[in-house]
Amino acid sequence: MRKNVLDLLPDELVQHLLELGEKEYRAKQILNWIYSKHTIDFSEMTSLSETLRVKLQETYQIGIPKILNKVVSVDGTTKYLLTLQDESKIEMVIIPNGKKNTLCISSQVGCARQCEFCATAKLGFTRNLDTYEITSQVFLAIIELGEEKLTNIVFMGMGEPLDNYENVVKAIRILQHDLCFNFSPRRITVSTSGVIPQISKLADTGLKLKLAVSLNSAIQSKRELLMPISKVYPLTELKKTLIDFRKKTPYRITFEYVMIKDFNIGREDVKALLKYLGDISCKLNVIKWNKVEDLPYETPSAIEIDKFISSMNVLSSAVTFRKSRGIDIDAACGQLATKNIF
Ligand code: SF4
Repeated sequence: MRKNVLDLLPDELVQHLLELGEKEYRAKQILNWIYSKHTIDFSEMTSLSETLRVKLQETYQIGIPKILNKVVSVDGTTKYLLTLQDESKIEMVIIPNGKKNTLCISSQVGCARQCEFCATAKLGFTRNLDTYEITSQVFLAIIELGEEKLTNIVFMGMGEPLDNYENVVKAIRILQHDLCFNFSPRRITVSTSGVIPQISKLADTGLKLKLAVSLNSAIQSKRELLMPISKVYPLTELKKTLIDFRKKTPYRITFEYVMIKDFNIGREDVKALLKYLGDISCKLNVIKWNKVEDLPYETPSAIEIDKFISSMNVLSSAVTFRKSRGIDIDAACGQLATKNIF
């Protein structure tokens, strides 16, 4: 199969071109066509010689996923069902919010982590996405947005990003490189269920990005019920790792907490959460549970949500109540893959 250029860092492209007997400066020209002019056809790269264009066409591709289905929510959130070259299917979501457009991307086909509340978990795990299958979602979103600017990227779609560590890290390097997508590190968030060894590894790379941790309970036994990963990587160990991660990065860690009626918003849950977060420099994002078919959980009432959020106000950390977006199209948190795929 022809190599996808969206898989390559600029240095690697230079190396490939030198092997083809081309000059180094051609790489910059090609990257400019791809990332500034959004050209995916080598034949349209008119600043390159005819011979080079043919050579590139024979050796490389700039493949992006095909859109199988696109559904727009009443709030403007758009969910895409995409098909990859091997016919695997993934989803990505564009969430507009004022001048901001956030893209939620997938890192795996399915997921192996089996979080109880998550629709993707029900699909099981098929495979990791290649680097270009991650970067090409961003490329596609930029094309889809047209005149509007893509401002933020979150790895919160299908898959546990840190279980696809190498490809995700390389994709982030391409997303941040000034000759490629040129995204600011503070606009890229990786959300994890808490894969401790990979969080430590990430901290040591020096790669700047925002880290979000899907917490959902600060009580070990309850978190184990919701997120089996907690049996392998318990809360106490997770906290130590995150404190260490925080020392090595400029950004505060965000904890995501899905509020589930009669499960994780009671008095003992509040007490445990305040204790867990009390000495970490962090942000807390709470979001209400979105109904997923076949799952037994219920959404809390407005009064219960208010009560839970007010009890968090003693934290020195910023607490935000994230509104669910795209609920009507199953594009909200935890809902990806509930429809469409089968
Ligand atoms: S919440 Fe994330 S890590 Fe857990 S099963 Fe779903 S996609 Fe995987």
